[in-house]
Parts: sequence; structure tokens; C-alpha cells
Amino acid sequence: MDWNQITQAIQGLSKDVSGKVKETADVLKLRQKASVEKQRIRDAYEEIGRLYFKECEGKEVAPEYQEFFDTIAEASAAVAEFKSKIEELRNTKTCPECGAEMDKEAAFCAKCGAKMPEPEPEEKGECEAVEADFCEVEECEAAEEAEGEATEEAECEAEAADAKAACECEAAEEAEAVNVCCCDEKEE
Ligand SMILES: [Zn+2]
Repeated sequence: MDWNQITQAIQGLSKDVSGKVKETADVLKLRQKASVEKQRIRDAYEEIGRLYFKECEGKEVAPEYQEFFDTIAEASAAVAEFKSKIEELRNTKTCPECGAEMDKEAAFCAKCGAKMPEPEPEEKGECEAVEADFCEVEECEAAEEAEGEATEEAECEAEAADAKAACECEAAEEAEAVNVCCCDEKEE
């Protein structure tokens, strides 16, 4: 092997090496791109799930979906319970508008300025079912009272609206699905 051959061999090697480096960089770039697309797929799946849940909440769903609805209900109830325990321990409350944590006695939110709702009087009864995104009429005293006031001929939707108003439960208003679930309860 003369000097030229050695030089050529070294050049060839470094060409190989730089080729490999470029290849690796290209592979990395493509993997990153693929990973971005995979995340978009996951987001889309999640959004489909969210929309389906919203659409079917309180209605009968195919058995293969039911366990997921149950999981969401259970987990939501658990989250609400933990959250209220945390607030109790820290002597705080959460702004319903912006979610900021503040002193329990605060009348206005320090972050967004929203007026805090008056603490609900005891006799209204807690509407835990609605907090968990499910409106079970038997667990909601306010809704039962409203049901009693409504005339028998009243449209189901009107009853549901009355019940919603009587609940004065902001979670119920946000849930939007409350009409549907209240109607379903009464039709059974
Ligand atoms: Zn706020």
C-alpha cells in the first residue's frame, strides 16, 4: 500500500463516517417529526373521546364504553373530594372563574376580580351528583323540590330547566348535559 492508497483509504473512511453522521442526523430529524405527528394523533383521539363523552353523558352507551364512563365519573368524584379536602386543610377556596386559589373568606378573586359566590345556605342541600357531572335526581334535593312544583303536563325540558335553576349549581350550568340527563331520569 503506497502513500496514495493510504490517503485514499483514509478519505474513504472519513467519507463513510460523515455519511453515517448525516444519516443519523436525518434519522433523528425524521423520528422527531414522527413523534410530533404521533402526538397529534393522541390529541385527536383524546378530543374524540371528549366529544363522545359530552354527547353521550347520561345516556345509555354500548357496554364496551360504559367502563370508561364509570372511570371518568369515579375519578371526577375523587378529584372533587381531594380538592375540597386540600382546600379545607389550606383554608382556601378556588375561583370558579379562573381557578385561582384564595383565602376562604375572600369576597373577590385577587387574580381575575370575580365576585365570589355567597356560601350556600345549609337547607339547599349539596348537589354532589352534579359536581361529579352526573345529575341523579334522588341525590339532588333541590331538583326534587323543583320537580314537585312543576305541573304534571309540563314538558320534560321545562322540568329539567326548573330543576337546573333551583339547583343554583354552577357546575350544572357548565355541564350543559344536565337537561339530557334529567330528562332521561324522568322517562324511566
Ligand atoms: Zn379568578
